[in-house]
Amino acid sequence: MTDDLTEIQARQAEFVAERDWEEYHRPKNLAMAISVEASELVELYQWRESELSAACRENEELREATREELADILCYTLSLADQLNIDLGTATVEKIEANSERYPADDPPSPME
Ligand SMILES: [Mg+2]
Repeated sequence: MTDDLTEIQARQAEFVAERDWEEYHRPKNLAMAISVEASELVELYQWRESELSAACRENEELREATREELADILCYTLSLADQLNIDLGTATVEKIEANSERYPADDPPSPME
């Protein structure tokens, strides 16, 4: 188990290379795959009556299905980053920093605005 994104990205690249899937893992295909997996995530919640976080967290089957779709999304995201030589860890930290400046903690806008 690792929490180092660079190491996980390398493992995903190794998984793809071992199966000679690089020719399929073109940026367009990977962008589409991310969208498909995100849609599978949305589908899990599509017709649920309760949107309460507590109810979703207590549903172990839903939690496990969500876990799997999030991992699918991340695998394709890491492959796309790899194909384009993007350091996703650095890009993500930079995005969080940009969001921190855009949405100051002492005056955060409502997510509904
Ligand atoms: Mg999936």
